[in-house]
Amino acid sequence: MTTLPVTRTVKDLRAAVAAWRAEGKRVALVPTMGALHHGHMTLIDHAKKYADKVVVSVFVNPTQFGPNEDFDAYPRTEKEDCAMVAAQGGDMVYAPTVPEMYPDGFATKVTVSGVSDVLCGAARPGHFDGVALIVTKLLLQCGPDVAVFGEKDFQQLQVIRRFVRDLDIPVEVLGAPLIRDEDGLATSSRNKYLTDADRAQGLNLHRALKTMAAAVASGASAQDATQQGRALLTQADITQIDYLEIRDLETMALVEGPVKAPARAYVAAKIGKARLIDNWPIAL
Ligand code: AMP
Repeated sequence: MTTLPVTRTVKDLRAAVAAWRAEGKRVALVPTMGALHHGHMTLIDHAKKYADKVVVSVFVNPTQFGPNEDFDAYPRTEKEDCAMVAAQGGDMVYAPTVPEMYPDGFATKVTVSGVSDVLCGAARPGHFDGVALIVTKLLLQCGPDVAVFGEKDFQQLQVIRRFVRDLDIPVEVLGAPLIRDEDGLATSSRNKYLTDADRAQGLNLHRALKTMAAAVASGASAQDATQQGRALLTQADITQIDYLEIRDLETMALVEGPVKAPARAYVAAKIGKARLIDNWPIAL
């Protein structure tokens, strides 16, 4: 099995990137929390279209988990991750330690208001502060030409676009399409927590979003469409719903009444031991 050496320090990462730059290579960064799956592999493919060298970071970031969330239980599969990155043609795995990222006395926050305040930001207080902080650090450490993020976490992508623009970070942020398993469930590292019965139930998240999109396409208001989606979830006995909403694509404002501008339907719910999220475009 071919694998890749793991880079653990900012110093070594910078040295490797500087050497590539000296050869005139373009560099891409694909930030992940590891437990890699085929969704992550498509991000590497995407990155390779825009850069000569692809760095995949693997870091389970403690600051984006709430006190009662799954930080300790989050799957860690570094050996397999390295083999997958190598097989997909990635060039480096950057897996820093927690003290490397958060040395003693660490005191800085990155907060993005507006787009961070709703959906996962409201359901997981502090989550996007943690994401914005770690992605800012990774971008400054690596200094890539492009950074690739999945539309699976559509709100996260909007948050990242916003602070990259606001802070003048010199990187092109690219979104890559949401990848689903064959049965339609959005591929996620957290799907490892699901039993077969959970999976069957979880498929209703995707169904609810599609129902909402179809309702809007046939003229329903955002509220009516959302009500139809919610009825489907209730029927499937999904009760721990963080949100089910239609929001404006750019501003993330809640859409009420007729849908007049590009929008997206979002859902988050607890299924078995996992909190799953999904989203779907609303075509006008
Ligand atoms: P994670 O390791 O789950 O934090 O995700 C790392 C990156 O992979 C993020 O940009 C995610 O949006 C992206 N990603 C995770 N799952 C998928 C998926 N099913 N489709 C597309 N991108 C994904």
